[in-house]
Amino acid sequence: MSWEERARCGQYDPEIFFDPTPRAERKAKAICAQCPVRLDCLACALSVRAEFGVWGGLNGKERSSLLRRSRRSIGTQGTLQPIGATL
Ligand code: SF4
Repeated sequence: MSWEERARCGQYDPEIFFDPTPRAERKAKAICAQCPVRLDCLACALSVRAEFGVWGGLNGKERSSLLRRSRRSIGTQGTLQPIGATL
């Protein structure tokens, strides 16, 4: 069974995940918080640079921020450092 088949959002109206209102976003994030495949979903969204919607519990702005911080955290020797690590 693929991670998409285990996605919790399959039980809900997909519109919830693409409605940019704060109320809908909070609801989508609450669903994601209980999803067993949240990290797979987030990794997929980051890999395809998904701009819109809540994926893996993060909205588009939050995913962009995560990607920027990840790029900045790549050390001088090309190794990935934990986000938030002091360089
Ligand atoms: S984490 Fe991804 S797969 Fe899981 S409910 Fe949220 S959007 Fe759906």
